[in-house]
Amino acid sequence: MSQLSIIKDNYSGIVGKGAMLALTAMLTACSSNSVQTQSDDLEHRHNKQARHDHHKEDDHVKVASTRTATQINFSLFNKAAMVKDPKVVSCTLVNGDAAYCAKFVVKYLPEDLDIGPFCPSSLDREGGIWEWDGRKSGLYRVDGAFFQMLAEQGYTFYDEKGRVYITDFADKKSPHEHSCINVAVDKEVEITMLIPTEPVIADASSKLGVVDKVGMTLSGVPIFSDAPSVQQTGHIPVLDTCAGHVDPGGWYHYHGTATDMASVYEHEGVHAECHLAQDSSALFGYAFDGIGIYGSHDENGRLPTDLDTCHGHLGYVQGKQEKVYHYHATEDFPNLPPCLSGVVARNNFSTTAETGVGAVKNKGSQTMAEHPDEPDGQRRRMQGDQSEPRGEGFPPGFEEAAQTLGVSVDELFQALNDAGGPNADIGQVAKVLGISEEALTAALPQPPQR
Ligand SMILES: [Zn+2]
Ligand SMILES: [Zn+2]
Repeated sequence: MSQLSIIKDNYSGIVGKGAMLALTAMLTACSSNSVQTQSDDLEHRHNKQARHDHHKEDDHVKVASTRTATQINFSLFNKAAMVKDPKVVSCTLVNGDAAYCAKFVVKYLPEDLDIGPFCPSSLDREGGIWEWDGRKSGLYRVDGAFFQMLAEQGYTFYDEKGRVYITDFADKKSPHEHSCINVAVDKEVEITMLIPTEPVIADASSKLGVVDKVGMTLSGVPIFSDAPSVQQTGHIPVLDTCAGHVDPGGWYHYHGTATDMASVYEHEGVHAECHLAQDSSALFGYAFDGIGIYGSHDENGRLPTDLDTCHGHLGYVQGKQEKVYHYHATEDFPNLPPCLSGVVARNNFSTTAETGVGAVKNKGSQTMAEHPDEPDGQRRRMQGDQSEPRGEGFPPGFEEAAQTLGVSVDELFQALNDAGGPNADIGQVAKVLGISEEALTAALPQPPQR
């Protein structure tokens, strides 16, 4: 008997035992203002949700709020970025807590977004921007003067005629020691992101390093922390003037608060302009801990003076009657929070791309040398918690259940297998996976009709 049929038999056994509740795995959210507020505690909320699941499908999802929460309001998000309507799903936070997350599936690039310029073709042209971390460090417009400064420090990105070496690293290796990276987009790629609907402040903040996941913009674009250093990779994955570029996976993302770049350019004396509407007190997006990221100024137009190490504080924001904890952009670059105060969800970022951050296909087949945008350790770490995509052979809904639970399909089946096969104990499976029994039973697919 194959491993697969053992697993399937075990699954049938569990179903036969009737251990699962006939709950739908997904919580269906309404399209507008789908998240309502109630102040009940988590326990109460879960009970309420369980009852709620027996109601008709178009009921609103009720999600609790806390005094410091910044709640995700789906109506604020850009529909032109979405593959499908965002919804609220069960998820597991990295601390093991069961929670609810907003699940976003976005395109490689929002339909209504213009991107670039990235690499200038020659020294007499202007490209995007780059934060140089060598001698004369700072934020620069990527132009002839910038490339000449780098050449003086031993990094030559152009030939004797002043033509810039440009490479699409998703496609081929650069024949040059130093080249400007301009990855082509892949229109097929979809990105799935999970953001807790109710922020939970962590015991200790988590630092954001190079290319760590920060969050998602209201426009539907992923946000990452510092792009990799030219001094480490030898190449320059230039950012456009809104601080975004294309990942080796073919999808666009930001490395800065794009809607407040004007403050940065003014503060740092850089001659550049982001074509997006600039508003230094607007909500830019949500961090992966569910906390809102605003521009550098508070809603009263002042620079906040009481920011913590993650550039967060408790204060008033537009549209809220009470103070909420939120992050602010800074006036220097990268203008993003340097750490996250809250707890993020497991497996909160995956793409359908074959490479790059969050890729789940062809795992391990790409090397660091081919994709300098994402450091090797980072890549391995980020891929390590992704579920392997599986084809046929598994009962319908299992991949979705694993995704909901923040575990891989393998982990889920292994746990079911280990917990006694046909007599598997749901409680034990939940314990092994570090999730609540309630979340597990809710997420598992409905048993087939017998
Ligand atoms: Zn990047
Ligand atoms: Zn504020």
